[in-house]
Amino acid sequence: MERIRAARGSALRCKGWRQEALLRMLENVLENGENQRELVVYAALAKAARDWKSYHAIVESLKILNEDETLVIQSGKPIGIFKTHAFAPIVIMANCNLVGKWADSEHFYQLQEKGLIMWGGLTAAAWQYIGSQGVIQGTYEIFSAIARKHFGGSLAGRFILTAGLGGMGGAQPLAGVMANAAILCVEVDEARIDKRMRVGYLQRKTADLDEALAWIGEAKEKNESVSVGLLGNASEIYPEILGRGIVPDIVTDQTAAHDLLYGYVPAGYSLEDVQRMRRENPEKLQADAGASIAREVEAMLEFKRRGSIVFDNGNNIRTQAFRHGVKDAFDIEIFTEAFLRPLFCRAIGPFRWVALSGDPEDIRRIDEMILREFPDNEIAVNWIRLAGKYVPFEGLPARIGWFGHGERTRLALEVNRMVREGRLSGPIAFSRDHLDAGAMTHPNIMTERMKDGSDAIADWPLLNGMLNCCSMADLVAIHSGGGGYAGYMTSAGVTVVADGTPEADIRLKHALDNDTGIGVLRYADAGYEEALDEVRKKGLRRVLT
Ligand code: NAD
Repeated sequence: MERIRAARGSALRCKGWRQEALLRMLENVLENGENQRELVVYAALAKAARDWKSYHAIVESLKILNEDETLVIQSGKPIGIFKTHAFAPIVIMANCNLVGKWADSEHFYQLQEKGLIMWGGLTAAAWQYIGSQGVIQGTYEIFSAIARKHFGGSLAGRFILTAGLGGMGGAQPLAGVMANAAILCVEVDEARIDKRMRVGYLQRKTADLDEALAWIGEAKEKNESVSVGLLGNASEIYPEILGRGIVPDIVTDQTAAHDLLYGYVPAGYSLEDVQRMRRENPEKLQADAGASIAREVEAMLEFKRRGSIVFDNGNNIRTQAFRHGVKDAFDIEIFTEAFLRPLFCRAIGPFRWVALSGDPEDIRRIDEMILREFPDNEIAVNWIRLAGKYVPFEGLPARIGWFGHGERTRLALEVNRMVREGRLSGPIAFSRDHLDAGAMTHPNIMTERMKDGSDAIADWPLLNGMLNCCSMADLVAIHSGGGGYAGYMTSAGVTVVADGTPEADIRLKHALDNDTGIGVLRYADAGYEEALDEVRKKGLRRVLT
């Protein structure tokens, strides 16, 4: 079968740029994905479409769709085309939503087996994944926040230990180097290590722990940054490093620990063993994965007791360890509460834009515009400078930038003007991660220990999604968790296309303002001072205070 690659250039296959944009975004998540044959984009099982038949039907539907019609997608399968109006979304989708009592991994796997459902991750099914770059600024901002809080502002001479070099975890080595650290990434699949080296996210690889630690030690001594991929299993390597009396400065993990059947590889298993056991004895495979995670988390807890800064980077590793007997697993902090919540209170989060023409110059021109127009935004200016220097493009050229309420709209309207005036070679699609201010409920990741105890209330992402439809976004998605995340999360995604038209000005303004506006109000409602301050500063209309 021919490999899917996003179309480039100015020729349209659809009846308008909005439809063409979404088609290219769909192709782009597959181009950048981890396993195109299975339509898997990242996070072990997060897919772009239910099956190949659905994929082709989506493509054909987008090609025939008129400006005033909406395509409805259920868990990666296109259901129907409806007459709406020219300011309605082009695509709406609901992926993997199960009612509460049935929302567990067992039911999910059964329904998946029957071909009735698929997990869409966050940005996979919503066609917003932009390669490892999508998560890289988040990882970098976490490292930088740790540097400010614990290491006098710099990670030079510091050792980060982590694991997992998959679709998202693959951002870690580059983020570590950008933060000036020496970072060791344990990965069980050599092909993933090679992929990160090929795309320029990882510098060195070895299968020898001694060699890896020597490289790290050398870099530390010279206050130089380095990224090392070590072929091995984290549940064996973490205890081994601990046993040698080495205490890294920062410890985390981004293996696909959320999924015991398709994600985490148990100690002693080869990749072939995993595939065989999935068929022959899935119960034992899951039990072994759980036991291995428990071992790894025990080591992480001991690193913490010895002084490392240890955090969970959003892969449910603590939950899995807790279920497998590690009663103090939640002594490990979650990255969102510890480092990112003050930003989310102001709806500063992982905004991103994709050059649909495929021309990297478009992203560079937008970089220049940001440096010129947003000189007071320290986070953005610092990031854009670093990203321009370090971050290679994967698939359609794209950039991530943590912008907040009001700023996203300003940026997008300026870009729409650049498209209109022919200063860019084609339209730009704007979207964001679902892990964004009001867009996600996940009581063990995004909304852990909310000030008012509203951790598990999923009304917020649902309202966010509905509001985005009312606000004329081009694509709106509502997702819930699948695999090991089933029952744990609900989220909303949004994409809006800057095609240079005056109508796009209207869509961008309302969709982006309201998307971030409800995020700020979510945190204001929970009583966060930063959000209340943002409400006052930006004149958001809160009804009951
Ligand atoms: P992925 O499936 O693409 O990659 C996971 C990697 O872990 C694979 O390369 C796999 O070989 C490796 N691995 C599995 N078991 C291992 C073990 N025992 N030792 C060493 N390596 C092992 O997943 P991904 O997209 O990189 O996501 C990783 C995790 O991060 C997922 O749980 C995902 O849901 C979560 N995530 C967090 C955020 C965030 O914002 N923090 C964002 C996206 C994803």
